[in-house]
Amino acid sequence: MLPKHVKRAMRILEKAGHEVWTVGGCVRDRLRGVTPHDFDLTTSATPKQMLELFADYRCILAGLSHGTVTPIIEHHPVEITTFRTESGYRDHRRPDAVAFTKDIREDLARRDLTVNAMAWHPKRGLCDPFGGAADLKDGIIRAVGDPTRRFDEDALRILRALRFAVRLGFAIEEQTAQAMNAAAPTLNHIARERITEELRGILGSDGCQRVWDDYMPIWRQVLPGVTDTDSACLGAPLDFVLRLVLIGYRSGCDVTERLCLTKIERKAIARLTAALDEPIPTDVIGVRRLAAAHGAEDADALLRLWHALGHDTEQAGSWLCECIERGDCMSIEQLDISGADVDAPSAQIGTVLRAVLDAVVSEQVPNERDALLSYVKYVKLK
Ligand code: ATP
Ligand code: MG
Repeated sequence: MLPKHVKRAMRILEKAGHEVWTVGGCVRDRLRGVTPHDFDLTTSATPKQMLELFADYRCILAGLSHGTVTPIIEHHPVEITTFRTESGYRDHRRPDAVAFTKDIREDLARRDLTVNAMAWHPKRGLCDPFGGAADLKDGIIRAVGDPTRRFDEDALRILRALRFAVRLGFAIEEQTAQAMNAAAPTLNHIARERITEELRGILGSDGCQRVWDDYMPIWRQVLPGVTDTDSACLGAPLDFVLRLVLIGYRSGCDVTERLCLTKIERKAIARLTAALDEPIPTDVIGVRRLAAAHGAEDADALLRLWHALGHDTEQAGSWLCECIERGDCMSIEQLDISGADVDAPSAQIGTVLRAVLDAVVSEQVPNERDALLSYVKYVKLK
């Protein structure tokens, strides 16, 4: 049932007398009938012992300090980590001390959520000291151990819990949920890159509205200025960037200040937010004008955002699709003339072409070279 390279890694460790298990995400995904994207192993062997056992393989050693060795076996990296316990966490993110242990249960106890704290072995079966299989069956996200302590140790777990709740479609257990909100202020210890990465996973997924209303203390921490307490519009099928536009627009401020976004994302957010106040098109010409002004892609995004905000833009959306499919002219590049055809000072060429485009878009002039050239003369006369 396990891929060959994983079995080989397990055999190498077991032949040398060490205990080894598959652990974490792969066990969770297997139990819910999903093919795991990778198989992580956990073992009683120390990192030093692993280095000796896998001396014949190329190994990635980036995680060595916290006990991880990743040999490449048959071209597949296999991440193997020594059973370990953690202590300290003065910075609310990383343990001050890591200690290796010989007890798989201690290793499982340091993990974040019960559904992520299970180990499985082809002969010994499931090792599930925290009831992860039952929670998986019942659709529950629950912290391992005392939730208050666990979120205080590492605030990133707050966002991980939300991400897994959204991804699996699970409910968050009451005390876990309370502890997450209570620990929200400690999220300011977490690097913005990590927060942004988790948010991409949460706000980029349909279903994120399920973890909105009840977790405002968390959202206020990571999206400063957010006042939007109505999740309904987040239910619309949008992506990460468009959901940020929506949340910011409804909150009346830029909520993305603390996020690590790309320049392209920031520009898109600013552009779309400003355009949301423009009139919503009510006919085909209006839809073409929208696309001519903002580009077809932004026009589509705006129609979807207006829809999420409660306006009926379904008809406008189909008009836009039809225009695109027909190849209707909606940009200066599509005009049957170019700047070279406009006999005017270069500073005015753009203005003239935009006037010509509007005439084409609103069906006053066909997009045919001769007609456009006469129209250029007419525009210049005006
Ligand atoms: P995915 O399918 O997203 O990779 P995963 O469960 O493998 O899911 P990872 O982020 O790859 O998630 O982490 C692997 C395992 O390490 C988790 O299943 C969990 O047991 C543990 N883990 C990861 N991050 C933390 C954390 N911040 N605190 C405690 N345990 C963690
Ligand atoms: Mg993983």
